[in-house]
Amino acid sequence: MPGKLPRIALHFAFVMPLMAQDAVRYELRFPNAAHHEAEVRATFSGVRGGVLEVVMSRSSPGRYALHEFAKNVYNFRATDASGKQLHVDRPNPYQWNVAASGSTVIVGYTLFGDRADGTYDAIDPTHAHLNPPATFAWARSFEKSPVSLKIEIAPASDWTVATQLAPGAGGVWTAPNLDALMDAPLEIGPHVMREWSADGSRFRLALHSQAADDVVTRFQRMCEAVVLEEEGVFGAFPKYDNGSYTFLVDYLPYVSGDGMEHRNSTVITSARSLKRESAPQLIGSVAHEFFHSWNVKRIRPRSLEPFDYERVNMSGELWFAEGFTDYYGPLALARAGLTSRDEFIATMRDAVNAVLTAPGREVFSAADMSRRAAFVDGAASTDPENQANTYISYYTYGRAIALGIDLAIRARFPGKSLDDWMRAMWRRHPDIQKPYTMADLELALADATGSREFAREVFRRHIEGLEPMEYASLLARAGFALQPESPAKAWIGTPPMNFSDRGIDITGPTIRDSPLYAAGIDSGDRIIEIDGKSLKTRRDWDDLAAAHKPGDRSTVTVEARSGQKKAEITWAQAPDVWITSFEKVGRQVTPEITRFRDAWLGSKALWPLPKIE
Ligand SMILES: [Zn+2]
Repeated sequence: MPGKLPRIALHFAFVMPLMAQDAVRYELRFPNAAHHEAEVRATFSGVRGGVLEVVMSRSSPGRYALHEFAKNVYNFRATDASGKQLHVDRPNPYQWNVAASGSTVIVGYTLFGDRADGTYDAIDPTHAHLNPPATFAWARSFEKSPVSLKIEIAPASDWTVATQLAPGAGGVWTAPNLDALMDAPLEIGPHVMREWSADGSRFRLALHSQAADDVVTRFQRMCEAVVLEEEGVFGAFPKYDNGSYTFLVDYLPYVSGDGMEHRNSTVITSARSLKRESAPQLIGSVAHEFFHSWNVKRIRPRSLEPFDYERVNMSGELWFAEGFTDYYGPLALARAGLTSRDEFIATMRDAVNAVLTAPGREVFSAADMSRRAAFVDGAASTDPENQANTYISYYTYGRAIALGIDLAIRARFPGKSLDDWMRAMWRRHPDIQKPYTMADLELALADATGSREFAREVFRRHIEGLEPMEYASLLARAGFALQPESPAKAWIGTPPMNFSDRGIDITGPTIRDSPLYAAGIDSGDRIIEIDGKSLKTRRDWDDLAAAHKPGDRSTVTVEARSGQKKAEITWAQAPDVWITSFEKVGRQVTPEITRFRDAWLGSKALWPLPKIE
């Protein structure tokens, strides 16, 4: 809210000298790291009223399901400024109501964490890897108060702190409010810190790995190339809040693979070790998460604002926020020459294949798939689900839609591309103070292409509607053929299966378009025989399929919940599609196709890319 800034600044300048301390002060220690524990102390000053409601978050920005971080909090206690114990009530599983006796409440607790990724905490003798919503209990009515954080590290330790919190005096880190604290993860450990500047912005790579120095240097160059290539899409970097952006990267065998975007940093984790050979794969999440520093952290759906730390913010726009990011990540790598064009096309093929073959497409639109994030994004459930027949990831779906729209714009509006839509979105919705709605997305597409009809058509048919885009004709413009992967291959379905001497146990839903489904066979059934032959191994299954062609008929003997039964099935053509370059299928690559490909997949960086040997 820039219009109000001067008045607020004046107010603070007047009040500041009277404040003895920050309103919220955290202290962090790791005396029992060997057993994955941290000690957290939080001091809330200026408490008004008798009860302070202290809360552990249930959700984390960038995650779209509930996580119940309170389950890893214990030894909770509360005192006043003199150390006198205060009474604590538990109104619900993630809240502590503290009966305050004065204006200061100090709470302390032990925190357990043994999962290093973008959502949880990991504390062990090698590092403390912390996601603030999983770490810091906060108090209602203090959400807008300034926060300070003191981290105690043993003097002999080689640990240092990497975070996008602002460094203050005396090793204290600060945030202007709770949202800023929650959006600044911390990697505290023996990482290497590499820094560089690009187009007036400062970048830092805090890397915790076992990689050799020259491998780290080469990886840093790859990060530099990604940063510049993605800047080229938007034309400028965002204004990072403290003037810099930090990649917090852990490549260690005991971390869990993840990537989590933040306004001024990202957490990236993988159990793969960083080597020359693995770098082209590892750089993929760098490209994805950095693109988020525009798309979702600044160009932000209204549905995610304000972020609710206790509930799920449902969003119908994740096909754009996540899916388009999942398109631009691989695209930036190809444009920067970090991966080949063939590798880029293979990634696109996976998305197009998923959209064209998953029966979920007939159930939910891309917008509705986004609204199901609460049930899939790290959500845990014990009862079975029917995702095989109802769901397509909004990442995958969005990637396929981005590809289709990019190709459609390029074909229909010469000189324009999806990049124009992204730039129009950033121009119209530069930061979270001006979030967008679904209608705004459509308006920006109309703005970028100059065609309201095109924008309406895209949204009506492919985003709110259930129609896939016409990938075969769109890809042909770029000299790629969309074909059945194996036209002669016979198929009856590929549900999850267990093979044993007793037969084949179907352990998950059969999909709606498969012959097995049509025969009434589903999860819990055991296939004993097909064509009178018993099937015990994966090999038996593959040999049987190889002996058939599409259109053949077979008899299947099944042990079902209702007893033994025989069913007739007709072998179908395997549904998977493949994308192949015209060169490989002997079709002519015209100069027009070459120009189209170069405009699409050539570098867009505004500055020279670093050389990567
Ligand atoms: Zn993402």
